[in-house]
Amino acid sequence: MSFLAPQAEKPASAPAESADPRSYLLDEHNTEQYRESVTEGVQRVIGELLDPDHQPTTGVAPEQLAPVIGRIDLDEPLPDTKSALDELERVYLHDAVYFQHPRYLAHLNCPVVIPALLAEAIGSAVNSSLDTWDQSAGGTFIERRLIDWTAARIGFGSEADGVFTSGGTQSNLQGLLLAREQALHGHEDGAGTDRATALSRLRVIASADSHFSVVKAAKLLGMGPDSVLTVPTDEHRRMRSDELHERLRDCREAGSVPMAVVATAGTTDFGSIDPLPEIAALCERFGVWLHVDAAYGCGLLVSRERARLEGIERADSVIVDYHKSFFQPVSSSAVLVRDGSVLRHVTYHADYLNPERHVTEQVPNQVDKSIQTTRRFDALKLWLTLRIMGPDTLGRLFDDVLDLAERTWEMLHADPRFEVVNRPELSALVFRYVPFAEADGQLCDRVNLHAREALHRSGAAMVAETVVDGSTYLKFTLLNPRTTLRDVAEVCELIVEHGDRYLSGTHEAGTERRAS
Ligand SMILES: *Cc1c(COP(=O)(O)O)cnc(C)c1O
Repeated sequence: MSFLAPQAEKPASAPAESADPRSYLLDEHNTEQYRESVTEGVQRVIGELLDPDHQPTTGVAPEQLAPVIGRIDLDEPLPDTKSALDELERVYLHDAVYFQHPRYLAHLNCPVVIPALLAEAIGSAVNSSLDTWDQSAGGTFIERRLIDWTAARIGFGSEADGVFTSGGTQSNLQGLLLAREQALHGHEDGAGTDRATALSRLRVIASADSHFSVVKAAKLLGMGPDSVLTVPTDEHRRMRSDELHERLRDCREAGSVPMAVVATAGTTDFGSIDPLPEIAALCERFGVWLHVDAAYGCGLLVSRERARLEGIERADSVIVDYHKSFFQPVSSSAVLVRDGSVLRHVTYHADYLNPERHVTEQVPNQVDKSIQTTRRFDALKLWLTLRIMGPDTLGRLFDDVLDLAERTWEMLHADPRFEVVNRPELSALVFRYVPFAEADGQLCDRVNLHAREALHRSGAAMVAETVVDGSTYLKFTLLNPRTTLRDVAEVCELIVEHGDRYLSGTHEAGTERRAS
């Protein structure tokens, strides 16, 4: 068998033991197998979507699936791709949670656009790594153009820069890392206790409704448990700027140093947008870094409601999750900074990868801007999305869910059976079923929890839960332009049905307990 002669194509069903191991590599010898294999995988997904019983979930319980997956012998491969896909249907595809279903209304997950899926297939096949020019070539400039495009949408000037990341959590970490290094300016690495003392005085200020990844980031950045100061929110669940003002003054008086204010443009629970112009003005006055977490609200950048983000252009750093409101598959996120030169805080050189001379030779190495090294070409998804759909069409998808959220609020607000906490600025809506006039708080909590769990178990719909002022609420996160008001109304009726069933059950059980 000469290694110069191309191998015969292996049929997808060749027994694993007898297969030439190289027949599994994607190269010029195995193009048919590649096509067949990927097409077969696509067919299985289509099969699930077209299944007449397709629901957002089967409601499978962990104790049902764990043993099914646990029993599989990973040292004993199946005879062919088809068998592996049959098995995958049983252990994954059948019971997966499907975000494209119009009655998936739970978390910040979107249906994904086909141009982005095409890009996923191309990106993972070519497998560029975006750390250095010599592992990426054109991918580098595609990513850079998309960073520039996003920065322009934000309203940043020509000094802006940024990088794609794995998600909002990583983006927040990097944004706050840059803020920390700016705040520690003059306390360079190795300055010993000087830097440690300076670090211990740093504070991050964020609203009570900010994302928990802010606190996590502070911990990772070596800051103490009390380093994140919380600002209360107003009746629209937005950061109160008078309270922020007080925190900034308190810091100054206490001799601590506010390293960053985190404003949230679209909180995870309520989709509320902190008052960016007022917060920006305070940050400018106190000379504090403004970090805007637009993981959720970034969809407004392409929406007719762009004005709701006014003030974002005054931030020092902004994070966006394209995998939330740009209808992109996980992962796709970016951190952007108004002054690109601050990215130098994550620049380190390795002789084997991005030697220092590359700086003068102007070799475009994205690793110089990232906290990752080997890095997926996630930008390709947004690229093909923009080149095939264009930003306005993408924005219309987000506008549709904003409209749906408003109409859902009107419907729930007019229905005396429900209590609604927020009128959505984006597409998240917190509410609960209140089945009796004289609310017994704890019973109401249990009714709603039960309704959510029963809905999930039935597979008919998925909604989220959260806690507001100590009470349990349900949450719709509307990100599917296919979801209609009628879908939402039907889910509301199911919530009432499950809630009522629980109530009649408890009342009976309660009677029994009293009788015994
Ligand atoms: C989702 C979210 C994050 C975290 O983003 P991931 O992509 O899940 O890591 C951060 N901030 C806000 C406001 C979010 O909604």
